[in-house]
Amino acid sequence: RAESALSEARRTGGSSTVHYEDTAGVASQLTAALTAGEFTVVYQPIVDAAEGRVTGAEALVRWIRPGLGPVPPNDFIPDAERSGFIRVLDRWVLRTACQAAASWPRHVATKVTVNVSGQELDQPDYYDQVVAALADSGLPADRLVLEVTESTLDADSAAALDVLRRLRALGIRIAIDDFGTGYSSLSRLHRLPADILKIDRSFVAVLGPTDQEAPVIAAITALARTLGLRTVAEGVEEPHQAALLRRYGCDEIQGWLYGRPGDPELIGAALAGPRTP
Ligand code: C2E
Ligand code: CA
Ligand code: CA
Ligand code: CA
Repeated sequence: RAESALSEARRTGGSSTVHYEDTAGVASQLTAALTAGEFTVVYQPIVDAAEGRVTGAEALVRWIRPGLGPVPPNDFIPDAERSGFIRVLDRWVLRTACQAAASWPRHVATKVTVNVSGQELDQPDYYDQVVAALADSGLPADRLVLEVTESTLDADSAAALDVLRRLRALGIRIAIDDFGTGYSSLSRLHRLPADILKIDRSFVAVLGPTDQEAPVIAAITALARTLGLRTVAEGVEEPHQAALLRRYGCDEIQGWLYGRPGDPELIGAALAGPRTP
């Protein structure tokens, strides 16, 4: 497996920004990488839990450093967030993903899911940027899902909640990512303008082959039903995990069991071709 310079630096006790030529210039170096075409977007299928039919895909960014190979997002997203570059990157990913999804076969209402950093929602022009990305790509609003993590979303920010409300009014769905891992009180969750809860991989990974019960999954799916939210489980690697999730009424499933993140053409082909078992 390709090890990034940054992971290497971390392992050997180096500073987390050691691979940047100038630690103060993180944003400018990431910007240069974007201009040089070193970022790419891959798509991981999301399937209907009951039938295994592809219903959409999550867009995940990749940084391919020349000579170093792929840098995992977890290695540069924190730097991108600290430096503010995340706003530039997220907008680029949004535009790229909308363009890709607009060309997928339309016989099913497949959605594209895009990650949004919480700090983006506080930007006054974010709503207009999303509207422009839809208009320029021709993607209908009801085929876009925006994912916000529980931990980066400031549920006390009136501006952020207002943007989410306006985006939903367009027909865009809002998903709460990594649900259950961050701090969020039930009263906050109740106030969030959301449509989907994404069940974090950590709750799926612990589901063993002989488990007949899954109390945390039971609780999250029951909560979602009560609040009128759909559920998507991430990190599903084994058939028994999918079976348990299905039993608890989880709506959609994402994970290596159904497909690894890949090129946009793979999603297009999966949608156009016959269903794979
Ligand atoms: P996430 O949003 O929770 O995305 C799911 C992560 O789980 C992805 O990692 C995906 O490749 C991985 N994954 C999916 N299925 C499986 C599975 O069955 N088993 C295992 N072990 N892993 C699985 P990835 O692509 O490395 O992304 C890591 C995180 O980086 C994402 O976590 C997300 O928080 C962030 N990220 C990725 N792309 C973007 C982006 O464009 N913008 C922002 N703001 N964040 C992004
Ligand atoms: Ca996500
Ligand atoms: Ca997630
Ligand atoms: Ca996660």
